[in-house]
Amino acid sequence: MSIVVEQLVKSYDGHPVVNQVSLRVAEGELFVLLGPSGSGKSTVLRMIAGLTDIDSGRVLLHGRDVTGLPPQKRRVGFVFQHYALFRHMTVAGNIEFPLRIRKVPEADIRHRRDELLDLVGLVGFQGRYPQQLSGGQRQRVALARALAHQPDVLLLDEPFGALDAKIRGDLRRTVRDIQRELRIATIFVTHDQEEAFELADRLGVMNFGRLLEVGPPDELYLRPETEFVATFLGTANLMVGEVTPSGVRLGPVEFPLGNMKGAAGEGRRVQVLFRPEDVAVKDSQEALSWPLLGKAVVEESSFVGSYERLRLRLPPLLGTRPIAPPAPFGGDSIRIEASRSQHQSRRYPLHPGEAAWVGVRRVHALIHPGLSMLILTDGTPEAQAALDFGGQVAVRAHARVTLLAHGFGDDSAARQHLQEAKEAIGSGLASIVTRIAREGAPEAVAEEASREHFDLLVKGLPARGRPELLDRLLQTGQHNLLLVPKPRPVPARVLVCVSVGEPAKEDVLFAARLVRHLGAEATILTVLPEGRDAQDLEHARRFLTACMRTMWLLGVNAKTLVGGCGWRGWCGTW
Ligand code: ADP
Ligand code: MG
Repeated sequence: MSIVVEQLVKSYDGHPVVNQVSLRVAEGELFVLLGPSGSGKSTVLRMIAGLTDIDSGRVLLHGRDVTGLPPQKRRVGFVFQHYALFRHMTVAGNIEFPLRIRKVPEADIRHRRDELLDLVGLVGFQGRYPQQLSGGQRQRVALARALAHQPDVLLLDEPFGALDAKIRGDLRRTVRDIQRELRIATIFVTHDQEEAFELADRLGVMNFGRLLEVGPPDELYLRPETEFVATFLGTANLMVGEVTPSGVRLGPVEFPLGNMKGAAGEGRRVQVLFRPEDVAVKDSQEALSWPLLGKAVVEESSFVGSYERLRLRLPPLLGTRPIAPPAPFGGDSIRIEASRSQHQSRRYPLHPGEAAWVGVRRVHALIHPGLSMLILTDGTPEAQAALDFGGQVAVRAHARVTLLAHGFGDDSAARQHLQEAKEAIGSGLASIVTRIAREGAPEAVAEEASREHFDLLVKGLPARGRPELLDRLLQTGQHNLLLVPKPRPVPARVLVCVSVGEPAKEDVLFAARLVRHLGAEATILTVLPEGRDAQDLEHARRFLTACMRTMWLLGVNAKTLVGGCGWRGWCGTW
């Protein structure tokens, strides 16, 4: 392996912006790190180059542990988004610079410079200054300079971010050709999915400091494991369906699936993905040789270069909840994105308002269920704490959120409150809907829970304890309850209290799902009853070790703690 990164962590102000990132790049491989702005891509790259200190983890380049070495000793070439050329030096001067500081003999410098000018397609430009070059040419110089000292690895951080589409395309081909010719292990950072697909041998997708999935581009596109990757890589039709013995079900429609092996649990909810090109659109039901979703109405059609995009409206599929595209607000239909080749659309033209039969050629079931949250608000300061905290958790978890206003009396005040709350949470959610309850909180929660499943109900802790209310809120569905006593930042450490035994397994699994999104560390605590003996202790120890291992597998750093003498007298940590 040319580049090995092990469990890299970097925190700013107590919050990890890079969280347990591990990756391996093979000899001669071009690895693309893709993710939205702020997801931690540059920080990972800078830690590999030694430009940013790491909190924990290791970096190995060609088997050499470089974690403690300064950048100039790591043998990496780095290209930044913003041209970092020396303005007072010519093209030749810029390219020669890394060789001069390494005291390479003059004749070799000139030879190498000419080689590099040829490589990046800038022969004849050596006498120009950066300000006499176009943006694309400057990045070619930056690339040549990064390669001058024959680095072991090449790191490029959104190198073409500031350039226009045509030039970006040319430069991508240049990078790809040079990378193949030199067979240099390369990490290329971008937030542009098209760029990632065009360049990558393998792709890693980051969000909120975590590397969510790694694989060949087509694999991640067709068979993502997480909701984020499914919706970030291209247009997705994503719905919550149900596991059946032979595949998945979307409402009345069954799809046989090979990849459900191991995804035990008939009747379990599962996210089902199909891409626009998997949607078949025909003028009669008989013409469809795939499972039928229903009769749709064309809402929109547009040409995007070589294909046509159709947005279709369908009656809802009973027992199926759409995630993407989101269902139209207040409507009683779902939306589907479809695409057709020019050829298909000429043979069977479709215009807005016309009807068509819709089937699905292929679906894929996601392994990891996303998180869905219901946040209660009645406009009080306690509810505000729940909104703030719940909102932060939701953004990190890329959750689906329902904001439920209750106790307002006046609908317009409730609507305004919900609108402000929605704006305060901002973007980054899988979806957000708002509702106004006519009845009390427990009844409203019960109604929501009967309509769809929530993983987590978030509520401000009432100033005076009202255990019977909390009890009723917990009884209304299968959800967990998060009580927020006052405004606070997202925790960096979470205490998970469990009893030793079967029911705690569910708690640990849920805690791991939640804590993983927060990027926090977990401590799993159990308190042993009075009169315990050595066997109880051994039993607890084994159980906690299993809990810890489960958390590790789910990407959470966990340690364990056992108490036996009430809440204060800890026996110790394992
Ligand atoms: P990306 O390259 O994916 O856009 P970055 O790695 O640049 O993301 O940043 C990840 C997060 O870390 C961002 O929220 C950013 O604001 C934060 N961050 C980066 N560098 C610093 C720094 N020196 N001090 C504080 N926060 C930082
Ligand atoms: Mg960046």
